[in-house]
Amino acid sequence: MKRRKLTKIERWEIYDKCHGYCAYCGSPLEYKDMQVDHVIPLYNGGKDEIDNILPACRSCNHYKSTLSLDGFRRMIDKIPSTLYRDNATYRVGLRFGKIMENRWKTVFYFETLEEGQCIESTTEK
Ligand SMILES: [Zn+2]
Repeated sequence: MKRRKLTKIERWEIYDKCHGYCAYCGSPLEYKDMQVDHVIPLYNGGKDEIDNILPACRSCNHYKSTLSLDGFRRMIDKIPSTLYRDNATYRVGLRFGKIMENRWKTVFYFETLEEGQCIESTTEK
């Protein structure tokens, strides 16, 4: 699907949704480094509107790609298992107590904000 070009005002509006942090991981985000992420990807029929867009760092934007919000959450939730499966150093580190795993369900930064409903809907397609 074709995406329209956002105006500068719209880009600032998106940036301000999370007060200068990535909507997903919560890392500080400079305006110039912001990537605009379609929460429901255009690819999956998401709207090309501000209420479907959040500010994201390059890494989160890259990893979320065409995943839905819950798909992205599942991917992040699986990181400890993926590392355990694929990385011997990780398993050694774990055995020696050098790594503290947590298996809590991932909460995205924007979901912790008062205005966490800064997107219209997170309904799964
Ligand atoms: Zn991020």
